[in-house]
Amino acid sequence: MITIKNIHKKFRQKDGSDLTVLKNINFKIQEGEFISLLGPSGCGKSTLLNIIAGLESTSSGKILVENKEINGPGSDRGVVFQEAALFPWLSVLDNVKFGLKNANIKENQIEKQALKYISKVHLSKFQDSYPHQLSGGMRQRAAIARALAMNPKILLMDEPFGALDEQTRMMLQYELQKIWLESKKTILFVTHNIREAVQLSDRIVVFGTQPGRIKEIFEVKAARPRKENKGYLL
Ligand code: ATP
Ligand code: MG
Repeated sequence: MITIKNIHKKFRQKDGSDLTVLKNINFKIQEGEFISLLGPSGCGKSTLLNIIAGLESTSSGKILVENKEINGPGSDRGVVFQEAALFPWLSVLDNVKFGLKNANIKENQIEKQALKYISKVHLSKFQDSYPHQLSGGMRQRAAIARALAMNPKILLMDEPFGALDEQTRMMLQYELQKIWLESKKTILFVTHNIREAVQLSDRIVVFGTQPGRIKEIFEVKAARPRKENKGYLL
């Protein structure tokens, strides 16, 4: 379980004034839950995701994972950014292996594990390609494979499909949903796309236009078929 407790975040601006981006943010994410963050541009979604990832500090408040306060990034949390942040000088396989080398995984398991996750996102044919040789959707899949290969309990995804065409987006939504159903991961998913949020999530946290405030949190569980879903989500 992730507890987001009284998070406040201010950024110091160039003119010396403070910009409050998150104000009194409180909610809990249950284990295995798929939760989406929805809200207008600039409302603080990425800032909150980065705080949970441990990549950004808070001005006050704290994040607890399994009742323990986080104090930086951890192998329990994998992150997928909006723009697939792959190393351009490494092949798909080496990109996925890179993270595993820093994790506590035996040398002979690294390649096996990397290949398994590359296959899960249907990129096996392109495992030796370099990022510039891939389409945007393929790069995003490689980034998802890299995050999944570390086997984090929590996946934090910041508009992972934002830059993709509708067809690729639908395909990846379907793949992500499948992975989520199989792995029972906890997923925090930032999106601008209401339909995507409704299709994928258990609950949706909606930020309002008032800076950094949650407008409402609602459940969509009952509205959504899951295991029966065999085709692309429409
Ligand atoms: P989008 O939907 O466009 O991605 P967002 O909800 O993810 O928007 P954030 O990236 O969290 O928004 O930014 C929230 C606010 O904080 C914005 O006004 C942004 O300019 C500001 N901000 C973000 N990072 C910094 C920073 N490092 N320094 C100063 N201001 C920042
Ligand atoms: Mg953002």
